Amino acid sequence: MNIGDFSGLKLKSLLEHAHIGVVIHRFDTSIVYANPTALRLLGMEYDQILGRDAEDPGWYFIDEFSNKLPAMEYPVNKVISTNGPLHNEVVGRFDAKTHEVVWYLVNAYPETESEARFIVVTFNEITEQRHLFSYRDIVENAQDVIIVTDAERPTEPLGPQIVFVNRAFEELTGYTAEEAIGETPRMLQGKGTDRDCLDRIREALVRHEPIRETILNYSKTGKPYWLDMEIFPLRNKFGKVTHFAAIERDVTEKTFYADQLEKRNEDLKALKASLEKMIEQRTSELRSANYALHKMAHFDDLTGIPNRRSFMDQAQKVRSLARRHGFSLLVGVLDLDHFKKINDKHGHDAGDEVLKAVAGVIKEEFRDEDVYGRIGGEEFAFVLLLKERAHAGAAANRLLEAIRSCPCSSEKSGMRVTASVGMCVAAGDHDATLEQMLKAADEALYEAKRGGRNRVVERVL
Ligand code: GH3
Ligand code: MG
Ligand code: MG
Repeated sequence: MNIGDFSGLKLKSLLEHAHIGVVIHRFDTSIVYANPTALRLLGMEYDQILGRDAEDPGWYFIDEFSNKLPAMEYPVNKVISTNGPLHNEVVGRFDAKTHEVVWYLVNAYPETESEARFIVVTFNEITEQRHLFSYRDIVENAQDVIIVTDAERPTEPLGPQIVFVNRAFEELTGYTAEEAIGETPRMLQGKGTDRDCLDRIREALVRHEPIRETILNYSKTGKPYWLDMEIFPLRNKFGKVTHFAAIERDVTEKTFYADQLEKRNEDLKALKASLEKMIEQRTSELRSANYALHKMAHFDDLTGIPNRRSFMDQAQKVRSLARRHGFSLLVGVLDLDHFKKINDKHGHDAGDEVLKAVAGVIKEEFRDEDVYGRIGGEEFAFVLLLKERAHAGAAANRLLEAIRSCPCSSEKSGMRVTASVGMCVAAGDHDATLEQMLKAADEALYEAKRGGRNRVVERVL
């Protein structure tokens, strides 16, 4: 078939309807033809453009980096100087009127088949696509790992497939983009990767929902690292989810420190618990020591009844109470008779037993609100509130009787234990001090001893 026969008409018509700009130059660069798309893209009329050459001062072209192109660098001249085609050159045209740049993607070639030689330049406008900056550059150079997978088979072992990874991915995982593309992100998971977390991710992917997780992944060499990972679906212009993008940040160090912190917290908690236990133990030891001290300070070792000091404290209180309420008060001093002899005859231990028995009798005879104590070797004392003054002698005599008939004082034991009591009674309105009353009771005791022992002598103030 001879194309030349009808190609003139067909070719012209083709060029007139083409959506790509076509400009045909002679080899002296003067323009012999421009199709309507070329005129529209260059913003010119057919008459204006025809015959113009590269040297025309009306042109203002710039390169990708916005440098003004010298005429020699125009595509048409590049083709002439190399006598070869020009592929996908980005050229901008500065519009002096609007001060805006229109960007073209330019291809050109020398048409040398026909006798007359031409240069054919074709171009498209790419201003829209050519933004001030490239999103791809941002993604490529981001510090965070970025992975894009397709949205196919999210639940199957081999899907989804990785279609893009950035440089941070290559650095962190050790896989090159070539190795990773076509694989599934599962290749980054390992034995330490939390299964529950993977389930949550899978569910989110199936539902086309975004998800954020912290997950353990492994590099090509098997080194584990923690990722704070955010996955979200990417939709095409019809709203269909075609891909998933994952933005991941290496948080190994942070996670490590958080772990350490938690561990330290636990150590601190354990330390606190053991300290608390120790304190508790010490407190209970102190409490018993305190109790022992208290006992030692207030009670007599041998008999277990209040000692002299405790007796005096309590007696002072009762003395004040009696005075406040106008009660009569009895202060008595009891001394065992010939106790030295008991010791001498039966031994010191037997003497101790007698002292204990007598203390027991005193405890039995008196009421809780009465005050008594061992105030010396074989000397005891007591203070009683009296409702009736006449009761005083009766109480003391009852005590002596109880001592006489105590089991320690029997034919069987071979001991006869008796005691003498000196006592002093102060009426409710009397202002004698406890010390004065004790002194008076002592004098009465002395009198009882002198009078033959085993008796009660009362001294009235
Ligand atoms: P009196 O009837 O005059 O009071 O004669 P007494 O022998 O009881 O008097 P004295 O004060 O001379 O003797 C008291 C004795 O009590 C002397 C001492 O050995 C004894 N004694 C003091 N404390 C204790 C003790 O805790 N245990 C024993 N077994 N004896 C003690
Ligand atoms: Mg004595
Ligand atoms: Mg005595």
